[in-house]
Amino acid sequence: MKTEDLARKKLEALYLAGERELPTFLGSIAESAESAPTEEVPSPTARIEVMPQAQAPVVPKTIVPPNKGELARSETRLAELRAEIGEDCRRCRLCEQRTKLVFGVGNPQADLMFVGEAPGRDEDLKGEPFVGRAGQLLTKIIEAMKYRREDIYIANVVKCRPPENRNPAPDEIATCEPFLLRQIEIIQPKVIVGLGNFAVQTLLQTEAKITGLRGRFHPWPSAVVKEKFDTSLGEGSIQLMPTYHPAFLLRNPSMKRPVWEDMQKVMELLTVSS
Ligand code: URA
Repeated sequence: MKTEDLARKKLEALYLAGERELPTFLGSIAESAESAPTEEVPSPTARIEVMPQAQAPVVPKTIVPPNKGELARSETRLAELRAEIGEDCRRCRLCEQRTKLVFGVGNPQADLMFVGEAPGRDEDLKGEPFVGRAGQLLTKIIEAMKYRREDIYIANVVKCRPPENRNPAPDEIATCEPFLLRQIEIIQPKVIVGLGNFAVQTLLQTEAKITGLRGRFHPWPSAVVKEKFDTSLGEGSIQLMPTYHPAFLLRNPSMKRPVWEDMQKVMELLTVSS
């Protein structure tokens, strides 16, 4: 049976449990401006093009009990990587103004990983990714997907806060991106959700914009990524779903719907492959 047919069958079976409407995660976060990544705002026409014909049902995730030995091994390897980076990393100028390095958080063997751009003020103070207002919205998205934050893994391309939340510079990204790659190698998620232009452009090593990339899976690592980073991960062994950054959603609430549609595709894939 084709993957799509299998997915449809599973979805039909689970349909009664599903929500058919845009979940209410979207209304309860204040929508004033937050210093945040700028994304391209799609033209009204593009917006119509990315809207699917029908709303797919929400599928509850299947919880697979972790293998304790493997879990401990991934946990140890992440701790070793963190120690190698060091809490007082001085590899780039971002060290000068950061408070805490923000390594990443979550399940060391997560099937699903979210990758953002760089810590903001709240993250810098706490040493944990996505804990500010954009983070609260991300948590709501994760929960609407029937996951808890601790089920998945969250990391950023750049581990230290750029001053005034400016965009990370190319040399800062270049210094930090090998560590993200090693986090991914250890965790080996089935799906990565790339949040916003910077994360997606870094992961795909492209200058293409999020608007043209989001909404469909990109097999990852691509040949280009494999060549650049010399990774042991099999080409295309992970599916990357680019979507808009939660901070962008705070300023552009109408973009929540396409993000939710992207997340439903992620849920379908994870249900089929579990
Ligand atoms: N934005 C990001 O990209 N990452 C964070 O951790 C917080 C906000």
